[in-house]
Amino acid sequence: MFQTLRRGSRGPLVEYLQSTLNRLGFNSGRVDGIFGAATENAVLRFQRRMSLSADGIVGQKTWEALMPYMRGYVIYKVRPGDTFYLLANEYGTSVQAIIEANPEVDLLNIPVGTLLTIPVASNTVPTDVSYCYDILKFNLESLKVRYPFLEISSAGNSLMGKDLFYVKLGNGPKEVFYNGAHHANEWITSVVLMKYIEQYCNAFVNNSSVGGESVQRLFEQCSIYILPMVNPDGVDLVTGAYGPDSPQYKAAERLNAGREGFPSNWSANLAGVDLNLNYPALWEKAKEIKFSLGYTSPGPFWYVGPYPLSESETQAVARLTREHNFRLILAYHSQGEVIYWQFSTYNPPNSLEIAKSLSAVSGYRIESTPEASAYAGYKDWFIQEYNLPGYTIEVGLGKNPLPISQFPEIYRDNVGLLSLAAILAE
Ligand SMILES: [Zn+2]
Repeated sequence: MFQTLRRGSRGPLVEYLQSTLNRLGFNSGRVDGIFGAATENAVLRFQRRMSLSADGIVGQKTWEALMPYMRGYVIYKVRPGDTFYLLANEYGTSVQAIIEANPEVDLLNIPVGTLLTIPVASNTVPTDVSYCYDILKFNLESLKVRYPFLEISSAGNSLMGKDLFYVKLGNGPKEVFYNGAHHANEWITSVVLMKYIEQYCNAFVNNSSVGGESVQRLFEQCSIYILPMVNPDGVDLVTGAYGPDSPQYKAAERLNAGREGFPSNWSANLAGVDLNLNYPALWEKAKEIKFSLGYTSPGPFWYVGPYPLSESETQAVARLTREHNFRLILAYHSQGEVIYWQFSTYNPPNSLEIAKSLSAVSGYRIESTPEASAYAGYKDWFIQEYNLPGYTIEVGLGKNPLPISQFPEIYRDNVGLLSLAAILAE
């Protein structure tokens, strides 16, 4: 459960609260992460409606009452005479969705007192809030209950000890790997990947399609591994989950050394290392370039680290990659609406052909990587190690962090690409 929120609270969880109240029709005003009068009034109205004591403070009981709408399911204790059909009608869901959420339960013989997960017509992944680690973790836990076939693991830990969660979608022999938010102020890429996971699961239950591909086909042919947030500590700094009074914020502020736009300018991890310049793929060359530009020590961006794979986050991603037989990878970044596909002189079979198909389905341009950022990235390392297709996808247009209002367009551009990349991998 989340921490208590009240008048004066700030941050991504306040945004999540505001977003949820707005969705339910309790107008809390603009989703701005500031718990003011409008939010308090919305909480009071919600509490009265739910017959809670109306104090305007979001503590344990109020969070609990909000949970079904945030998690996308309710836990229901079976009473005599209940059937999946009647429950589906009562909760506005389908029998199939209840079956998928309760694989252990015999549909023809549900013992009274059984606790059922009943999915409700509501999405789990919010697409209008600053997407911090706590929301990511909460969404993954909720998706796991609602879609038990979803496999969730941790690839390792961040510097601050957060789990680097990844999921596996499907059961096919062909493995591919997508990751997001190597860079802190590119956290919108985590939302893209999380929404894809949710949509895939939903399509699986409904036996429909995701991004124009039959989910059944994807499930049987491919295993799609997704690690949506490689740099959760940095994301928490940029989204405000680490507020100005936190030691993490203060330490980062010292490393920032007065550079403009803090903390929105932050793309590194909390050690001040740019994670996408920390892979052993001509790392010395990346170091030479960045050092010559003056980035010789930990800071908000462009510091390559003391040596390749010096960071726990890059170590975890490299380890996960080595443990699998990934045939293709996508590394999600923002911004530019561009697909980068090359590294050095490598030319993996079909790499350009696949890039062209990904470009066609997304509308993103194919470009050569600019020399200044052509080394030591994850995509570079993958291509170097395996000589297989690897792509950096730069979503959206503008200045990082991109406003979450760009999400619908970014997702529309990328949902087909995400499905197609798995199909086209060999
Ligand atoms: Zn980036």
